[in-house]
This record gives sequence, structure tokens and C-alpha cells, in this order.
Amino acid sequence: MQTSHALQTTEAVRLDAVSKTYGGADSSVIALREFSMGFAGATFTAVMGPSGSGKSTFLHCAAGLVRPTSGTVTVGGTDLAGLDDTQLTELRRDRIGFIFQSFNLLPALTVRQNITLPLQLGGQRPDKDLIRTVVHRVGLGDRLGHLPSELSGGQQQRVAIARALVTRPAVVFADEPTGALDTRTAASVLGLLRESVDTAGRTLVMVTHDPVAASYADRVVFLADGSFAGELFRPTADAVAARMTRLGAWDDETTRQTTPATSGGLH
Ligand code: ADP
Repeated sequence: MQTSHALQTTEAVRLDAVSKTYGGADSSVIALREFSMGFAGATFTAVMGPSGSGKSTFLHCAAGLVRPTSGTVTVGGTDLAGLDDTQLTELRRDRIGFIFQSFNLLPALTVRQNITLPLQLGGQRPDKDLIRTVVHRVGLGDRLGHLPSELSGGQQQRVAIARALVTRPAVVFADEPTGALDTRTAASVLGLLRESVDTAGRTLVMVTHDPVAASYADRVVFLADGSFAGELFRPTADAVAARMTRLGAWDDETTRQTTPATSGGLH
């Protein structure tokens, strides 16, 4: 169709009818059900939903880390299904940044080496100004020579965030990037992520449980039971929290019966 083709050129990431089933015939779990969504370039989207609603599965499929059972994922107009494993690895390395809950830092390398490793692997020359800016913003300026084992969990997460940004990826996927951080550091990191969307035109997709973190996004997409369950544009933390409460109420009979305000479902 003409219109959907035209849309694809402006979308940094697109999922069309993506489903993911885990397990065999006897014990299969449908983690994602025919999920379709576009993520325009230079936008920040938060993805929220109850535990087990398919957020991680969505993120892993969108980032090319997990192959969907059916459906299509395109990144920068490239259909991931058409790539072999080497091409997929190259696409991830060149265009995608990851900030995941497990930091995946290399224990024998210093903070500085961990941050610049993706640049070396991709054959890029380190941009010293960018590295200095990123390191300063995540508050690691005095830790560059340390090993990961000498850092707190929050500091290790900040190394992972810096590492994801120094390659200037077109798209960044983040899974609870501020979950281990104190409020002040979280605000600084979210400000940095927001800025990388506004000034560098990066596309950011972030899974979070935190309504305050979600309020930094342009849009919040809600998942429930592997399916789209609504969205909010220009979200406030209060509006996000209210929507999350209602989503939780769907799964909780007691809350539904005792809280009349939740019985109307989503608006
Ligand atoms: P969320 O991130 O919202 O908590 P997930 O995407 O992790 O949700 O999980 C969605 C559903 O898929 C859950 O029922 C979960 O148990 C199941 N699931 C996730 N990963 C696997 C896996 N590797 N093998 C089997 N089931 C899985």
C-alpha cells in the first residue's frame, strides 16, 4: 500500500503483526500477539505494562536480539528477517545501542575501556568531546580507571548507558535504565537520554516501571497480555500512574470489585 510504504521511510523502527511464542506445543506461552507499531525517528517512547505483559520480549524482538515467531521487524527500513546472523550483528553494532538491566560489562576492562569498546569493535575513531560529555553527564568522570567490580550497581549501570551512547546509534533500546539509580542520578541520566533525542535525533525506546521516568518520553505505550493496551502522548507522571493502576486492575479481581473508578477500562 502506498501510504504504509511512505510511512516506513520516516519510521526508525517498525513492527508489523509481530508474535512470539516460547516453548513447545504442550507448554507454549504467547508472549507477544500480532503486535504492530511504528517508532518515528527522533522520538522517545516508553513502554509499560504489568509484569509478564511482554515488554522484554517486545524490546528483544525490536532490537533484533530475538527472532519473532511471525511478523516483520524493520530497523531503518531494513527487514531483519532478510539478514543472516552476521548481517544482523553488524546492523545492531552500527545502528543500535542497548542499555539493559544486566550491564554486561567486561570485568577485566576499566570503565574507560568498557565505554570505548564498541567504538573499537566497529572500527570508529573515538570522539573525545562526546566521550567527555557523556562521561560527565553520567557522573563517572572520577571513575574512568576503575574496574566494574569496584563500582556500585548504579555506577555500573551508568557505564552501560555511556557505552550505549558513544557510538551515536540511530536507535537506543533501554530496559529499566534507571532502575538501579538514586533519584538525582536517574533524573540526570533521563535528561541525557531526552537530550540525545532532541539534539542528536536519536530514537529511544525504553521499558520502565517508573511513571516519572516515562514522563520524559513523548509517548507511553501500554502492553497487557502481549497486546497493545493503549497509549498516552505528552505523558505526565500522574497520568501514567493512573493508567498503570487501571491496567493492574484488569488482572486483579479484588481491586476491580472494590474500586468502582477502574470499572470503565481505558479511555
Ligand atoms: P515482561 O517484560 O513484561 O515482564 P516478558 O516479555 O519477560 O514480559 O514475558 C512475557 C511472557 O513470556 C511471560 O509469560 C513470560 O513468562 C514468558 N517468557 C518470557 N521469556 C521466556 C522464555 N525465554 N521462555 C519461556 N517463556 C518466556
